[in-house]
Amino acid sequence: MSDGAQNQNLSRRDMMRLGATGVAAAGIGNLPAAADEKAASDKLPKRRYGRTGLEIGWLIGASDWTKELIPRAVHAGVNYWHKAQRWTADSLPRPLKSQPRESYYLECVVDRVGGDHSHGRIDEEQHYQFVKSCLKASGVGYYDVFKFHFGYHSIEEAKQNPGMVRAFERLKKEGLVKHLAISQHHYNNIGGDMAWDILDYLAEHQPYDATQFFYTYNDRKEVGEWIDVAKKHDIATIAMKTMGGVGRAASDPKFKKLLADPKYHDTTPAAAMVKWLRSNENLTGAVIATKNFDQFRENAGAATASLAMAPHDHATLALLAGYNKGLTCLLCAECVSTCPEHLAIADIFRYERYARDYYDLDRAQKEYAALTKNGSSCAGCGDCLPACPQEIDIASKLKDVHRLLG
Ligand code: SF4
Ligand code: SF4
Repeated sequence: MSDGAQNQNLSRRDMMRLGATGVAAAGIGNLPAAADEKAASDKLPKRRYGRTGLEIGWLIGASDWTKELIPRAVHAGVNYWHKAQRWTADSLPRPLKSQPRESYYLECVVDRVGGDHSHGRIDEEQHYQFVKSCLKASGVGYYDVFKFHFGYHSIEEAKQNPGMVRAFERLKKEGLVKHLAISQHHYNNIGGDMAWDILDYLAEHQPYDATQFFYTYNDRKEVGEWIDVAKKHDIATIAMKTMGGVGRAASDPKFKKLLADPKYHDTTPAAAMVKWLRSNENLTGAVIATKNFDQFRENAGAATASLAMAPHDHATLALLAGYNKGLTCLLCAECVSTCPEHLAIADIFRYERYARDYYDLDRAQKEYAALTKNGSSCAGCGDCLPACPQEIDIASKLKDVHRLLG
């Protein structure tokens, strides 16, 4: 489908989903069909990225967005770019290249070496050299943010291993990076700590300026508490894996039939989720997997709408929560430490989310293939069942996910 044809369809679908007033109020309906490299128009709300003082668009951009989407996102006010280390001098999008370097923010994501996020190690010299090589390849001069991808396994590791912070400090001294951030996962499957416990420790003891973590509607209360703690420390908070169940609900005819009830009019699960996230004024922004302009406009429209949630937004999220019960893993990792097989249950269901909610089967299959133990190792003992707040039949779901991704 051409861009033009796609946009005509999008307009019709958006009018049905958001209602004419919703799209107009969002101010995103006026984005040009063939947006160019003009400077951002600041339509998205901005929030202060904690003590860094950066003012960032509420929706975070990603370097894997399509080349058609990126100019439109820039035009709509996206100015912070996640995983920017993937861009080289050739692939850095023109809408960014053509602006002064200080008008947008680039984040370099730094992974462990010698293995994946569970088995790799922190190595100061290799992280330092990695960032230097990305800078050389991209020609961007500096990265605004150096981000430790996937984070520490435990508080103990954060205490004992300063390699990531030291690599950052060396690069900062040379003017090659400016701020330090972390994207923190749970590690109770390998005997480590939960993300919020590690983040609480870092807030008190280490120089991290910004944090990223799983957060979706109906999530564990500890995540909300962490957001409030971070605000007190003036540390930025970015929610990721935000769209729990949204994609699968949107493509399920049974859910769509329920959603047709007038009490859900003028919104969608995605729009209601964005409004719910944004209504938390302590939350700095959100990473939302976005495959096309249709999704971007829906998210940006909701992010630009009034802060207050309407009754139909609450009703739609309640409907989604009921739909998710027994079906959608919220990645809380409560079940993981109960498994005698030490299966990374939450990781496996995170990959399922890539396939079913973000429609990215390739990525899901690749991540699943890299697991040392996958869903087929489930012994069906049922030890994990009582732990799950979502009341998921985990053993049966693992079989289902193995059929999908294995
Ligand atoms: S049912 Fe499977 S996933 Fe659950 S605890 Fe037993 S082995 Fe682990
Ligand atoms: S399966 Fe249940 S307990 Fe395990 S991570 Fe998902 S929601 Fe949490």
